[in-house]
Amino acid sequence: MDDSPITLFLDEIFDEISAYMDDIGEAKELSTTVNKYAQAVRKKDRTRRALILKPFGSDRGLKKACLSHCDKLNKTREKISDSASTLNDFMINKELSCSKCMGTGVIRKPLYLREKGSAGQRTFQVKDCPECDGKGKVKFTINEESEALIMKFIEFANSLDFVLINTIHCIRNLLHSL
Ligand SMILES: [Zn+2]
Repeated sequence: MDDSPITLFLDEIFDEISAYMDDIGEAKELSTTVNKYAQAVRKKDRTRRALILKPFGSDRGLKKACLSHCDKLNKTREKISDSASTLNDFMINKELSCSKCMGTGVIRKPLYLREKGSAGQRTFQVKDCPECDGKGKVKFTINEESEALIMKFIEFANSLDFVLINTIHCIRNLLHSL
């Protein structure tokens, strides 16, 4: 693998997916806590309840933490779906956003205008990006290996989404049982 735009693109996606996994890890920890709390409530174990609630202040604090975590997970789902659709688009069009113009299709060249008797004024000349001819996107050919890797990423993003839906569902169910 080299430093081609495709490699950089895949690196970026991989970093994103790793961050999603961290979110899932946190969510799993929280649902385990809620589950333990529910058991302590059922067993009328006051000491254990107090111990579990300590970091959250109260059972309201625990519920609040769960709800805000569900919100966070829903946002993560949106981000995953964005990443997956970026990958899908790439597989269809084999294009990436141009890195030179950041996908805008234009570049701004600084110009200094100097009129007689006045201080130089800084301004910009807007030109079509030479890298992508003003399209904002650049076409790529990719090898089979990269193509297979991208398909795996898409598959993985979809399964992560499934795990997230399930986790949110579990946390909500647990909350109802408290
Ligand atoms: Zn460009």
